[in-house]
Amino acid sequence: MQAMKVAVVGGGLGGLTAAALLARGGCEVTLYERSKHLGGRARTTEVEGFRFNLGPHALYRAGAALRVLERLGVKPQGGVPVPTGSHALRAGRLHTLPRGPVTLMTTDVLSLAGKLEVAKLLAGLARIDTGPLGPVSTRQWLETRLTRKDSQAFIAALVRVASYCADLDVLSAEAAVKQLQAATAANVLYVDGGWSTLVDAVERLGREAGVRLELSTRVEAVVLQAGGTRVEGVRLADGTVRGADAVVLAGSPADVAALVPGDAVLAREAREAVPIQAATLELGLSALPRPDAFFALGVDGPWYASVHSASAKLAPEGGAMVHVAKYLGGADTECREAELEAVMDALQPGWRAKVVARRFRPSLTVSAGLPRAMNGGLAGRPSVEVPHLGGLFRVGDWVGAEGMLADASLASAEAVEHALLQRMAAPQRRAAGA
Ligand SMILES: Cc1cc2nc3c(=O)[nH]c(=O)nc-3n(C[C@H](O)[C@H](O)[C@H](O)COP(=O)(O)OP(=O)(O)OC[C@H]3O[C@@H](n4cnc5c(N)ncnc54)[C@H](O)[C@@H]3O)c2cc1C
Repeated sequence: MQAMKVAVVGGGLGGLTAAALLARGGCEVTLYERSKHLGGRARTTEVEGFRFNLGPHALYRAGAALRVLERLGVKPQGGVPVPTGSHALRAGRLHTLPRGPVTLMTTDVLSLAGKLEVAKLLAGLARIDTGPLGPVSTRQWLETRLTRKDSQAFIAALVRVASYCADLDVLSAEAAVKQLQAATAANVLYVDGGWSTLVDAVERLGREAGVRLELSTRVEAVVLQAGGTRVEGVRLADGTVRGADAVVLAGSPADVAALVPGDAVLAREAREAVPIQAATLELGLSALPRPDAFFALGVDGPWYASVHSASAKLAPEGGAMVHVAKYLGGADTECREAELEAVMDALQPGWRAKVVARRFRPSLTVSAGLPRAMNGGLAGRPSVEVPHLGGLFRVGDWVGAEGMLADASLASAEAVEHALLQRMAAPQRRAAGA
């Protein structure tokens, strides 16, 4: 069988995974990454022994990312969030977070009628058919399913933490409900050592399978055959052209559009993509002032704080690594550091005296494009295969019909693998008379 030559542009977790899967399948793969590091948004930085992911990262145990990683032979280690010490945050004060029947009955963030509505919704959550919810916004869905403002606000908070998305008028209810179903069915994993351990493992497997990695190498354009309807390679920033039978673009919608200048379809997709964004504060503390308080979720605002080191190895002995975040979107487009500090004041009063390392990021792109109700939900996201340009594929957390966040990224990597390996096998089958 003639090996197919594939150029993968982008060495984040999505591009790396696509490269490793394709090389395992027999393709001759070269991956180009413009930065000097692999990993993209899945990188982890070590500061004073604290392992900081780029904002809070949790791997869905029922999600596509774990499925694909396990297929590759990567077995992420870590722990699920600690079930105790969780709080709802309202008006800057901690309250009982409803997590089960007992806390639902005792919390004061819901009225009695609100509790009954929430209990009913959560009891039937796994059975909700998400099929018809593609074109319905999460806000519409909440207002249809729940009559009370307090129960709507509480379920909206669960949607935010499960999807990272605060733009509930734009987010498709299909995607929101699927995220809630995945979170409640199997929870999430905080990864020991941070997400760089996943990147390192996929890089190693890719290299073993023969992937050629070119770091600090920016691809400037996709090179098309005469006629402009099929790829024949990529042009690097130094002007070199590298031939390829297929090109996989694993950056953002804007990155993809920039690589095929003048393409109106890709330019429109880039313009219309609605990213999910967040502001984050990462803290390395010498100790937790309140050793029994691990989690806070805003029910009257888009707030999140979690002690990730309580479940995964992310801090030196005795220390604590805490992620604080504000989900941006809708009316909330900015965040001051003081807003995140106030969340910590509520969860861990006295934390300022314990700071060893800290890092504030006012705006990070969590996902390059959320599944929009006005596009019909997940099925309306740009497809893995670029329909009008033969041999051009894309991978990312804004691509394909499966999952959100890293789940979408790795599901699209797997979809590229299936499409290209099928294509590579087809001439072989024809030659064998199949
Ligand atoms: C704050 C935050 C919290 C998150 N939390 C979660 C979470 O809890 N759960 C979850 O599943 N996901 C989470 N995510 C999302 C997750 O990190 C991403 O979905 C995942 O890492 C996507 O990887 P990717 O490879 O698709 O994209 P990226 O990581 O963005 O990688 C794209 C790569 O392409 C390279 N590139 C682009 N253009 C070119 C070019 N022309 N030439 C060469 N290289 C190029 C870039 O340099 C980059 O390295 C979070 C993200 C953030 C920022």
